Amino acid sequence: MTLRRTQTLLVCLLAVVAVGALVAAAPGAMRSKKIGNNLCRTTGGGKFVRIPGFPGERIDRRLLPDVKYLVKRYKLFITDGYSNDPVHASNGEHPLGLALDIVPDKANGGSWKLVSRLAKRAEPVQNQPVAPWRWVGYNGDAGHGRGNHLHLSWNHSDARAGHPAKTVYTMRCPGAATRGGQKDGGGRDGGAGDSGGGGGLSPGSGGGGGGIQPRLETAFPRDAADPVVETGGVDAP
Ligand SMILES: [Zn+2]
Repeated sequence: MTLRRTQTLLVCLLAVVAVGALVAAAPGAMRSKKIGNNLCRTTGGGKFVRIPGFPGERIDRRLLPDVKYLVKRYKLFITDGYSNDPVHASNGEHPLGLALDIVPDKANGGSWKLVSRLAKRAEPVQNQPVAPWRWVGYNGDAGHGRGNHLHLSWNHSDARAGHPAKTVYTMRCPGAATRGGQKDGGGRDGGAGDSGGGGGLSPGSGGGGGGIQPRLETAFPRDAADPVVETGGVDAP
């Protein structure tokens, strides 16, 4: 009887410890809101994590659904993500885990043609990237371009190098699309009211066909910081 009670107590204690560990390991509160076609705003929950399939490369985990989609769609190879290497602009997005350097994954059917297609999608007009992108380095940008590399920065609120930004903008809401290729709409979309000040982005209805409607960076809510141009980032493999 006594032994049994002790065992029960032990089990309870273990359960408490286990729950405590789970809570401790749980990600910070992450609140996502789909604010447009292919545009999601997420506040909280930032963390630098490994990019599956690219050993040694890390990124803010809130970008993972975008990265997964883009890599597959455009057959990309990632040469850099989160980085404090001085070759990158220190006030740019690499030290925030919100940028990628990209070349074709030629071993898997990738090509500069596909990379160029992505560059065009992200920045149809020079220096006017569409949301969620903040800065696109390609043809016309020193140290970037076809045959060198494509740089993509995702937009975000003001942040300090080496620390995840409070708010990030992505194509897909993190939490959606990670389970068996589900479409947007599951997961954490439309979570509890966020504090992001209801930015002035119109969802851009119409247009059908799933095409991207250009959204100028200037249309971002005011909590998005000013873009940083990476000038010397020559880091092709
Ligand atoms: Zn870069």
